[in-house]
Amino acid sequence: MLISETFVSLQGEGIIAGTPSFFIRTSGCNLRCRWCDTPYTSWAPEGRRRGVEALVEEAREAGLRHVVLTGGEPLLQREVGRLTRALRSAGFHLTVETAGTIAPDFVCDLLSVSPKTANSDPEGPWRERHRATRSDLGPMRELLRRFPEHQLKFVMREATDLAQVREVLDLLDLPELPRVLLMPEGRTSEEVARRAPMVAALCVEEGFRYTPRLHLDLFGGGRGV
Ligand code: SF4
Repeated sequence: MLISETFVSLQGEGIIAGTPSFFIRTSGCNLRCRWCDTPYTSWAPEGRRRGVEALVEEAREAGLRHVVLTGGEPLLQREVGRLTRALRSAGFHLTVETAGTIAPDFVCDLLSVSPKTANSDPEGPWRERHRATRSDLGPMRELLRRFPEHQLKFVMREATDLAQVREVLDLLDLPELPRVLLMPEGRTSEEVARRAPMVAALCVEEGFRYTPRLHLDLFGGGRGV
């Protein structure tokens, strides 16, 4: 598997934010979000090949109960099924973080999907491919049905992004409203803080949950947090 980095930190986002976790970050992505906070896994992917057994062993050595498989897009990795099964067999609580544009065979305890909306569209040659990939909600629908324990995290830049959130939820057409969280966009805690009141107000109005980005507040962002 192409791995960008492994590290121990606190889960920064979502319903189990604050949980000490061992992170495995894969490299490579089928999207090119304009505000991607890990461009070293998407726009200019870098990393080294690691085997499933070595990753599970490293997770064991970290001595924590929670493991987060993130990217990049971890579901692109050919061995994602084998890695996720091995991690769960080893007794870890496994969160898989994905944009939800593909639905291979894998397992997890918490599926964390971050649907991408128009605010992620880049300029330039990737624009149409990115839009087409993010707009195909078939794989996401399948993932949400397959994993009842899930959360949907939307990245918010402007209050007007709410229309896109509603559109995605309508198009998903699920029997039950998924657990929806709104998250301010930003690569620094200052940028996040600037958008936080707007996002918090939308959460109150719409009944969605607000998610902080603790890793920015606590560690300032960057690699390895
Ligand atoms: S899906 Fe995630 S890793 Fe891929 S470009 Fe978007 S933010 Fe970056």
